[in-house]
Amino acid sequence: MSRVTVLQSKGLHVEFGGVKAANGVDLDLYEGELASIIGPNGSGKTTFLNLCTGYVRPSKGEVIFAGKDLTRMPPRDITRLGAVRTFQLPQLFTEDTVIQNVLIALAARTGFWNLRALDRPALRSEAMDILAIFGLTPQAERHIHSLPEGVRKLVDIAVSMALSPTLLLMDEPTSGVSSSEKFEIMDILIPILRERKITALLVEHDMELVARYMDRVIVWNAGQVMADGAPDAVLRDERVLRSVVGA
Ligand code: ADP
Repeated sequence: MSRVTVLQSKGLHVEFGGVKAANGVDLDLYEGELASIIGPNGSGKTTFLNLCTGYVRPSKGEVIFAGKDLTRMPPRDITRLGAVRTFQLPQLFTEDTVIQNVLIALAARTGFWNLRALDRPALRSEAMDILAIFGLTPQAERHIHSLPEGVRKLVDIAVSMALSPTLLLMDEPTSGVSSSEKFEIMDILIPILRERKITALLVEHDMELVARYMDRVIVWNAGQVMADGAPDAVLRDERVLRSVVGA
């Protein structure tokens, strides 16, 4: 079966004050696959997400998504094309409610939103449908600042889903929550990604989570890909263990 390439990065380079955060990254992501980037701190994992979503411009190389060159595009245009990014700290409007946050994302999809659009019953019902998928209906009217971290993470993911992604780039979606909450979040998220055939790339530190849910693991080291493949093979590779786990 031939695979459809969703994202292609070619020869990406970027340097910060002499540190090569990307040192020739060539990477293809395929439709519907769930992949994780792992690697030591400072190896360039977040930089790769930044390069793919317009937050950092490469000094050399390019990123192609959905047939378009993203390399010089601003983040909001990339989001509208369907490559949606989440950050380590949820980017939510903390003084607003859960449903207001989802409504704002839904209204922002078109790029022509105004505050009146948020009152439209059709948009509200779409927002409630998204919250239901994530089991967040009871929290719809809660303010973000009043929610525990685990629920906030889930709202952040629901908001990213409201942007209709075909590619989801997530920076440690479960950092800062307990181990059991991590698995609860993934047990909700993974079936949604599979059902919608969304391609996902997660920066992740939890190897158990990677082994349990991912199709592919890409190991970063000093701004480069040092290993790439199925979790059961990659996570047994001695070189990888030494680099990532320090074993
Ligand atoms: P990782 O996500 O693997 O921990 P990062 O991509 O955050 O690594 O960082 C890789 C290197 O690039 C680090 O040395 C970091 O300090 C540096 N770096 C990343 N982003 C910036 C930036 N915007 N400005 C300056 N240095 C940066």
